[in-house]
Amino acid sequence: MKYIHDINLKGKVALVTGAARGIGRACCLALAEAGANIAVGLRDIHSDSGLIDELNQLGVDVLPLQLDVSDKKQIDEAVGQAADHFGKIDILVNNAGIAPANLIEDYTEEDFDNTIDINLKGTFFTSQAVGKLMIKQKYGRIINLSSQAGFIALAEESVYCMTKAGISHLTKCFAAEWAKHNINVNAVAPTFIETPGTEPWLNDPEFKANVLSKILLNKIGKPIDVASAVAYLASPAGDLITGSTMMIDGGWTIV
Ligand code: NAP
Repeated sequence: MKYIHDINLKGKVALVTGAARGIGRACCLALAEAGANIAVGLRDIHSDSGLIDELNQLGVDVLPLQLDVSDKKQIDEAVGQAADHFGKIDILVNNAGIAPANLIEDYTEEDFDNTIDINLKGTFFTSQAVGKLMIKQKYGRIINLSSQAGFIALAEESVYCMTKAGISHLTKCFAAEWAKHNINVNAVAPTFIETPGTEPWLNDPEFKANVLSKILLNKIGKPIDVASAVAYLASPAGDLITGSTMMIDGGWTIV
């Protein structure tokens, strides 16, 4: 008799978007460490920053894919290539995201459209393409990257906050519609995590001190903190979890 599910993904296939760096990269490595084969979604297939080599060293099957999530044609082609290569996709991590900061009164239409296209439209249509396979397989796990910014208002991040709130709600909509296909859909909502994306801000001592004053656990997150939660939700341990957004925020949003 076992009393804990294994976090074992041997034989599973995971597609991670925006995988070249930061949280996406960590998710690829975490899922591979748990035994999954990895379809690596890259905005530019020629710039994987050594990730493909690192994954190969873990002894799993690795397929780099050209996948700009703002381009539906690239989504459909990449998902098709992954399906041809692996025969299935069990796990999708919708990680690709951008957060151009600006005052509401200065936001450009270009930044507005790009943020919606990558964060929301990309998440929707990548899920749609992979979901069609998952429906046929009668199995799937989708994990979306939301943010604490979907739950609280961050100054100069209005459009980003809006997309992340949208992702958490979209997560519930997908979970409700696809539960009958045995597809679990969840999100994770991190606080500030040390990645190339947040580096310029966290390098500012005043900004970092302000962030730390709001994270009750008084520490900035690491990509492994998010990747471990993603692996948990992708594993049998997450069998009965769907439609949820797991806060990984050190307590920022609870007070
Ligand atoms: P990051 O360091 O800025 O990396 C983002 C990755 O997404 C990069 O690899 C980038 O590709 C890729 N990307 C950008 N546009 C893309 C597109 N159109 N198609 C495909 N990939 C694209 O970001 P991060 O900090 O790791 O964040 C990852 C996710 O977590 C995002 O959704 C973010 O909103 C969310 N998040 C992050 C934090 C945090 O504090 N870090 C907190 C909450 C939520 P290139 O490398 O080729 O440019």
